[in-house]
Amino acid sequence: MTLENTRAFAKKLDQTDPLCSFRSKFHIPRVNGKPAIYFTGNSLGLQPKSTKKFIDEELNDWATLGVEGHIHSQRPWLYYHKFSKKALSKLAGAKPTEVVAMNQLTVNLHLMMTSFYRPTKTKYKILTEAGAFGSDQYAFESQVKFHGFNPSDAIIELSPREGEHTLRTDDILKSIEDNKNELALVVFGAVQYYTGQFFDIQKITKAGHHAEAYVGFDLAHALGNVPLQLHLHRVDFAVWCGYKYLNSGPGGIAGAFVHESHANNFELPRLAGWWGHNERERFQMKKGFQPMTGADGWQLSNFPVLSGAAQLASLKIFDETNMAELRKKSLKLTNYLEYLLKSIPGWQNYFIIITPSNPHERGCQLSLLMKKNGRKIFKRITQAGVIADWREPNVIRVAPVPLYNTFEEVFLFAKIFVDAIK
Ligand SMILES: *Cc1c(COP(=O)(O)O)cnc(C)c1O
Repeated sequence: MTLENTRAFAKKLDQTDPLCSFRSKFHIPRVNGKPAIYFTGNSLGLQPKSTKKFIDEELNDWATLGVEGHIHSQRPWLYYHKFSKKALSKLAGAKPTEVVAMNQLTVNLHLMMTSFYRPTKTKYKILTEAGAFGSDQYAFESQVKFHGFNPSDAIIELSPREGEHTLRTDDILKSIEDNKNELALVVFGAVQYYTGQFFDIQKITKAGHHAEAYVGFDLAHALGNVPLQLHLHRVDFAVWCGYKYLNSGPGGIAGAFVHESHANNFELPRLAGWWGHNERERFQMKKGFQPMTGADGWQLSNFPVLSGAAQLASLKIFDETNMAELRKKSLKLTNYLEYLLKSIPGWQNYFIIITPSNPHERGCQLSLLMKKNGRKIFKRITQAGVIADWREPNVIRVAPVPLYNTFEEVFLFAKIFVDAIK
């Protein structure tokens, strides 16, 4: 289809969009009395209108049942982690037993690394992308120190080639091969939070296993954004947060994936708590931790029901469509955004797009590296009703989300952006 830089064309795309009705399921924030152009679903997903109802139901059950709600509430609190399994497993390309909602992302990263970062004297290094999200960097650094190694020696941070902004898959694979004798763990942000690069999970996992290292992914920017096949690709573990593309609310419940091949590996060291213990005996308080099989065996504490209720509201919406449909729209939406930005006369004088131009190597986000006046331009688009996000030192990230953003918004954003850079 030939794209057109007109509002009428954008509206036509919305009219023929099979997912266009989903927008009405969300609260759209307002700026200056008008709906904002909200392109920050990669940072905090919007609130489903149904969230309040889901949380209210738990509040009512708590009010009327008290502790009996653990068993007699509409969704018995004792089993709450089970209610999100099916939807999460579909998004992750996993079996329901391989995923569990629990804790927060960084906590889960530490739990997973406790099991899957098993350094020896000679094989102790972690390979990751340079410029990983701060929390991940600190987790790697502290884990390495915890095992008595020196972070500057034990953490290999892979940088793009001179003059490039993203990593080439071949360079990642080569680095894994080059370091194979010393490598214990390969861990990447599946979609890099800063550049928006979607790494080749299958190839990286295969290479990591060939090097006899475990392989894990941080899905903070991937789950609910790009199609995933964690089971098929034999990823060892993954972690995610709930509040970005999963729309589970600020600080919402996170989750983890553990591949089925480790489901009954009770030799793996792990940090234990009663919620990961054999559920038939959980309340007997007996000595001797017996982990449940699958991802459930990594749970520590009883389930945060109010946070989980918010997640269920959002997952129900994901269940009314699927990742294939969402991806189809997402590719079109981001492609349209890229087309409009590249139609700006002399655009390369103002910014470059550091996100890969190959649609298979990105999710919905485009990262615009501003060449001059970045902060000023960002301020102007914000005043004009765009909610986007600024990342030091000079990147504006924009993420049109297929569940609730429209082609018309993409058009209007591009117009505001052109006015701002002039
Ligand atoms: C958002 C994000 C986090 C946030 O960690 P929390 O534990 O949820 O606070 C961590 N890592 C990455 C890659 C992220 O994008």
